[in-house]
Amino acid sequence: MKNHQNVVAPVVKSRVNTLEALAVSISNSTLLPRAAVTASRGGFWGLYSKKFMKNLKNNGDGGKGGAKVNTFIDSMRASSPTRVKSDENQDKNSWILYHPSALNMFDEIIYNSRGKQVVTFLDYDGTLSPIVADPDKAFMTEKMRATVKDVARHFPTAIVSGRSIDKVYSFVQLAGLYYAGSHGMDIKGPTKSRSHKKSNEAVLLQPASQFLPMINEVYKILVEKTKCVPGATVENNKFCLSVHFRCVDEKSWGALAEKVTLVIDEYPKLRLTQGRKVLEIRPAINWDKGKALEFLLESLGYGNSNVFPIYIGDDRTDEDAFKVLRSRGQGIGILVSPIPKETNASYTLQDPSEVEQFLQRLVAWKRKSSLSHKL
Ligand SMILES: [Mg+2]
Repeated sequence: MKNHQNVVAPVVKSRVNTLEALAVSISNSTLLPRAAVTASRGGFWGLYSKKFMKNLKNNGDGGKGGAKVNTFIDSMRASSPTRVKSDENQDKNSWILYHPSALNMFDEIIYNSRGKQVVTFLDYDGTLSPIVADPDKAFMTEKMRATVKDVARHFPTAIVSGRSIDKVYSFVQLAGLYYAGSHGMDIKGPTKSRSHKKSNEAVLLQPASQFLPMINEVYKILVEKTKCVPGATVENNKFCLSVHFRCVDEKSWGALAEKVTLVIDEYPKLRLTQGRKVLEIRPAINWDKGKALEFLLESLGYGNSNVFPIYIGDDRTDEDAFKVLRSRGQGIGILVSPIPKETNASYTLQDPSEVEQFLQRLVAWKRKSSLSHKL
């Protein structure tokens, strides 16, 4: 990473916040049905969204929103990797044909990266660490930490997470990396200082800083409103919030979702998306992990070509980054999932231990190729 410290030039391009762009961004939420996205292209997204949220709000009282919440709950169940059934093996086989294992295709991936600078982007939860019941205990193993350290030694590396930077840094504990927390709304890079103390990072971009007071206000309300649902926890990720369903009985998922939507309905400047056993609340700005990826590439001096980004992630929010790579025709997206999922990633890995194997092979290849260049 040291070689790249001096090339960081945080040029913040003004992003055109059109309804269309917003709709595409929102389309990644499984909470919004496809029809909502289509509607947005007709220019009445706001109206439809309100109506949708209202329907969702009506869940549980026999209202018409029940079906919507059911869709959301089904989606949340489907994104849980513990629900693999043996009769789904056939689906899995055909899925794997379209999204082959990044380990099996390692040589092809390396071949496609020839002559280009590999840059790695790593999600944290479910990618570098397993999904555990208590989100505060999502620790990565020492072996994984050593592997990520090796990766960062050989390639510019960024950790991209929905968590706050402070939280994700407390898990990763590695200086010299780029960190994009709060779904890319808080981006920091390494400084030239040799101190390896915490927060040895310089702010590169915080596109949602004006939302801080609102996020803190909604955090307090959500903590209050959800405390009667056993197991529900609200995490403050600085520029966004997470309501965790991991420890909530499935029977209460609908009730919890209803409580959350009731609160967020009062804040039109915030939006709600769904991930793996989590509801995410964030500013309704045209910014996501995909935009963070583009910003980081530009900051690193790879805005144009000759770069081969490898983005590894496991959740809906990572799809924004996979889409960006597809549309740029650069690098590869790798989805971490043991079960078939609709994805824009080209390749897959089953779990964090396969991610570790893949990263180790990447380092080994780099070491070998650097050695052969010296000979
Ligand atoms: Mg994740």
